Amino acid sequence: MHEVADTPAWVPLAYLIAGALFILALRGLSSPESSRRGNRMGMIGMAIAVVTTLVMHDIASLPEIVIAIAIGAAIGFLTARRIAMTAMPQLVAAFHSLVGMAAVLVAAAAYLNPGAFGILGADGEILQVSRVEMGLGMAIGAITFSGSVIAFLKLNGNMSGKPIMLPGRHVINLGILAAILGLIAYFVTDQSGWVFWTVTALSFLIGFLLIIPIGGADMPVVVSMLNSYSGWAAAAMGFTLGNSAMIITGALVGSSGAILSYIMCRAMNRSFISVIAGGFGGDAIAGPGGPALDRPYKRGSAEDAAFLMKQAEQVIIVPGYGMAVAQAQHALREMGDLLEREGVSVKYAIHPVAGRMPGHMNVLLAEANVDYDKVFELEDINSEFARSDVAFVIGANDVTNPSAKTDKSSPIYGMPVLDVEKAKTVLFIKRSMGGAGYAGVENELFFRDNTMMLLADAKKMVEEIVKNMG
Ligand code: NDP
Repeated sequence: MHEVADTPAWVPLAYLIAGALFILALRGLSSPESSRRGNRMGMIGMAIAVVTTLVMHDIASLPEIVIAIAIGAAIGFLTARRIAMTAMPQLVAAFHSLVGMAAVLVAAAAYLNPGAFGILGADGEILQVSRVEMGLGMAIGAITFSGSVIAFLKLNGNMSGKPIMLPGRHVINLGILAAILGLIAYFVTDQSGWVFWTVTALSFLIGFLLIIPIGGADMPVVVSMLNSYSGWAAAAMGFTLGNSAMIITGALVGSSGAILSYIMCRAMNRSFISVIAGGFGGDAIAGPGGPALDRPYKRGSAEDAAFLMKQAEQVIIVPGYGMAVAQAQHALREMGDLLEREGVSVKYAIHPVAGRMPGHMNVLLAEANVDYDKVFELEDINSEFARSDVAFVIGANDVTNPSAKTDKSSPIYGMPVLDVEKAKTVLFIKRSMGGAGYAGVENELFFRDNTMMLLADAKKMVEEIVKNMG
């Protein structure tokens, strides 16, 4: 990393304080009770980092920075206002792609105008250490960009959520990765344009190739993995720009994203190495596409559901992506409150990959002020279904699919699922028998004797149930 020689002593100190606040922010975010405090710490840390950078502004002039911020803020503001809550996961993927592209542009600018970045050696060539930083920054940024674009297309439904398998993909991917690393090493001895731009092109390509084969129920790992990559891309930018706050922040995002990916892998029962290699678990033949519409199932009404739950001793609510689509969390909480007033014990069971982004369900339930102590993770509640009268599945599907436990041909085989079928009765809300979950597989649960299908929009159905409880 190059340091600007006349950096005043207070600058690294300010960045250090910002870094410490970011660490405290992450610590705060580890539990719902302390998350507000954590967010505040992060905001103060970011304010300190931004003000310090603005005061220093050694690379761009103040008006240039202000114009860039204004353009970025306007785009961010308009996007955030227009985007539906349900499109949040793809928005996050899109934002990751921007971090990747920023790293690419910074590396390209440094390569094309090294003098402005203070990275020229006495011989007029780019410093060797800067070439390594630049090469890695370009590679990580380009992989983050193209990988995030594919993730966006998959989450947005422009591209099939099913894995797309290229023959010999592991050999191709390993070959390209080896070529990228080899060329970055060669770049240290030869700063020719062809080396730098070949690294760039190959990195964009490998980003696409790594994410294309990952699909279905494995997408959560991709989302957290790209989050991690975007952190490393920012850290690489920090090295090129000689900005220690960026290095610290990038490393924190990179490593916390990596830890989250590991947690998601464990939740999905997948190995971390195979995730990085791309297209893991996808060798299983995909199960039958959509649900079989001609099989018999029991259909119930809001009245039936209200009756069954009022009689129950314990109801476990299992929220999933459909609750987010319907924005049914507030009505759901009202239903939970009513049941508790009737003396029914109400608990919420959250699968680690429910919804479309890590923590999706926790955020929605928190928004509806559901008490944290009623919300349980999979491993803490799974044994309780067998002792419960009702499992109330609201817009969840893949995370309840028992075939994950038995059907080796299923793309979700091996993923731990919520044992909802062990409850006396399963009430299952979805809009129609035709729609499948994200992984596109049939859910055997719909046709079980103890399952009652409540076919309607989740919010409308819960509101009806609430009316029938009165
Ligand atoms: P699923 O995607 O498996 O199922 C969603 C269910 O909600 C479907 O049965 C759908 O059926 C129903 N639904 C949709 N809209 C409504 C509505 N308005 N009212 C009522 N029901 C509705 O969700 P899960 O949460 O169970 O599983 C998450 C899946 O997403 C997993 O496969 C996971 O791997 C994947 N994923 C998770 C990510 C994460 O980070 N958490 C990221 C990317 C993917 P119907 O259409 O008939 O209504």
